[in-house]
Amino acid sequence: MVRIQLHGRFVVVVDGRSVEHLLPGRRGRALVAYLACRRGAVDRCVLADALRSSGTGLTALLSKVRAVLAPVEIVGRQSVQLVLPEGGLIDAAVAAEAAHRADAAAARCDWPEAWTHALSTLFVTQRPFLPDLQEPWADEHREEVGRLHRRALTCYAEACLKQVSCECGYSTRSESEDQIVGTVLQHVAVDHPDLAPSVTPDVVRGWIEIVP
Ligand SMILES: [Zn+2]
Repeated sequence: MVRIQLHGRFVVVVDGRSVEHLLPGRRGRALVAYLACRRGAVDRCVLADALRSSGTGLTALLSKVRAVLAPVEIVGRQSVQLVLPEGGLIDAAVAAEAAHRADAAAARCDWPEAWTHALSTLFVTQRPFLPDLQEPWADEHREEVGRLHRRALTCYAEACLKQVSCECGYSTRSESEDQIVGTVLQHVAVDHPDLAPSVTPDVVRGWIEIVP
């Protein structure tokens, strides 16, 4: 089992053992983080630039990192790519995939599904991306994560049910704000006719709570 955590504390677990402390220094950690958050093949020159390393420095770094990460592989020569064994997880990739699924579920109005996936994204993106790593590429990635986080928040809020509870014990919940307003106005008209003149749709909107 391989697990790479880029949000919160940097963690690399290989076969149940934490190995991040065995990586060769700050550059070694940055190399793994960079490849893990790119996920596709990365041109060597781009990688060397990002790590502010020379070509030969990068070759040495790659071979040290490969030794620590096995059976995780870094494949390729001119462009390199991190390849996890079957079942391996990268938290950032899980978050991006979940955001994609949340959007797809929201598009077909499957709100429970959208809620679950949006929550999986938020669980990762609410923690900072490698807070100790101060590099231009990491800042760019943080902006990307920020967009993903806001997208998931919007989806989450949309997927949450809206609820109004009345002091008489009546309560109603729905995905649709308009539907809630209509139902509550009806309730007030029937059960609390004396209050009806003062309860406008805007008043009802003020009573809405968001519940998962
Ligand atoms: Zn009532």
